[in-house]
Amino acid sequence: MAVEARAREQEVVEAVPKQLLIGGEWVDASGGGTLDVEDPSTGERIAAVADATPDDALRALAAAHAAQEEWGAHPPRERGEILRRAYEAMVARTDELALLMTLEMGKPLAESKTEIAYAAEFFRWFSEQAVRVSGRFQVATTGQGRVLVMKQPVGPAYLITPWNFPAAMATRKIGPAVAAGCTMVLKPASLTPLSALAVARILEEAGLPAGVLNVVTSSSSSEVSKPIIGDPRLRKLSFTGSTEVGRKLIEQSAEQILRVSMELGGNAPFLVFDDADVDAAVEGAMIAKMRNIGEACTAANRFYVAEPVRERFTESLSERMGSLKVGRGTEEGVEVGPLVNEDQRRKVEELVEDAVGRGAKPVIGGHRLDGSGYFYPPTVLSDIPDDARLLKEEIFGPVAPVKDFAGEEEAISWANDTEYGLVAYVYTRDLKRAFRVMEGLQYGMVGVNQGMVSNPAAPFGGVKHSGVGREGGYEGIDEYLEVKYCALNV
Ligand code: NAP
Repeated sequence: MAVEARAREQEVVEAVPKQLLIGGEWVDASGGGTLDVEDPSTGERIAAVADATPDDALRALAAAHAAQEEWGAHPPRERGEILRRAYEAMVARTDELALLMTLEMGKPLAESKTEIAYAAEFFRWFSEQAVRVSGRFQVATTGQGRVLVMKQPVGPAYLITPWNFPAAMATRKIGPAVAAGCTMVLKPASLTPLSALAVARILEEAGLPAGVLNVVTSSSSSEVSKPIIGDPRLRKLSFTGSTEVGRKLIEQSAEQILRVSMELGGNAPFLVFDDADVDAAVEGAMIAKMRNIGEACTAANRFYVAEPVRERFTESLSERMGSLKVGRGTEEGVEVGPLVNEDQRRKVEELVEDAVGRGAKPVIGGHRLDGSGYFYPPTVLSDIPDDARLLKEEIFGPVAPVKDFAGEEEAISWANDTEYGLVAYVYTRDLKRAFRVMEGLQYGMVGVNQGMVSNPAAPFGGVKHSGVGREGGYEGIDEYLEVKYCALNV
């Protein structure tokens, strides 16, 4: 690598705070421990951040709790303006934030830039929502007395985020919490803490008062989270991550009857009907499958394609996926980066081996790439047997299983045959069919003739085992507000 490029990488990593943010102070972990962050394209250590202990976590919660009353009463316009300044700072620093993200997570630079824009948009959207929280006043049905409904911040929130969208999953929670007047403790994933720390520094510079946002990075997520979740000072838990961990956290939240928002796993079906524009469907499939190297909860996991167009779709998708350039995300022209770590790569490999072992045929790819880093090539599989695990489990990698269906009813029934319900994609030119399918799909979101649904102005979230609650849109701020009804005898 050119000396200049290496120096630039070191510079952006060095600029990020590596300590815990508690009550407005950047401090070391009480045990003095640190946690290494590595570059998944080389496996090399790029930084070490503070490794919080359970005591640190409780100090962070205490700081959030102490700041809650004042922050809840802070003028909404000023809360919005802090978010607006943070939005502008993120946009202005897109290049360095994107490089940082690519270094710790692996996605190609162009995708990191797109994520920074998306992440910043949550600050802009919620800067606009901060001044739009309203209540209700009505005459009681009897004509006697009045009904007054007001909304108030729910209180200190604990925000847990995953590694796959290290900035956007944080801003999608911080934005509405700040707008609603909640204080918070953020715990980013240990694999990718740098982007979240950089966002925290930006909010600090934008004028967020001490104690409103506290950040704990830790290698023992369970140990630091349990005491916070069990503490009566906490009132809200917002989690994005796997269904398995989400289930445990819901259980833990029962003790203090916390308000919970859960953005969990997915198993998105991608349906292509025989009346679809096949070229457009392939274009959409590339986005739905390859965005984030397939490491997205919204990633198309199963392609169900009508028999008459299946061959054309599979050939064209294989050609497009097969021509993508794989490499270190910082390199010019690279379109597919490494998976985040060896565990993730091993899981993808196992799912492919399982499907092939049961009779699936690799059209392209199908084996890990040699060399350093956690690379797995774009892979298309055909002839998928019904019992292949990848039809049921989240692949989280660049693997596209294609299976043909006979008719609309079969397509909808296969699409719904999963415990997940985050997002489904449908390609058809028949408007009546589009409505029948949209209505028949048991999903929180449906993309019609498009391979991406994420939009800060829309309610993102799932049903069934994909979660509870919505982020973004008009709905996102409600997750951080309590409704208080006052019965007025006037
Ligand atoms: P994960 O293992 O569930 O981890 C998510 C977060 O929870 C990380 O910060 C992790 O910290 C923490 N964590 C893990 N075990 C914990 C425990 N026992 N107590 C408290 N915190 C704990 O998920 P991931 O592998 O990072 O992310 C991938 C998953 O996220 C996929 O299933 C994907 O579908 C889902 N996801 C969903 C959405 C959505 O909006 N629905 C968006 C993005 C991702 P450490 O990593 O440091 O242990």
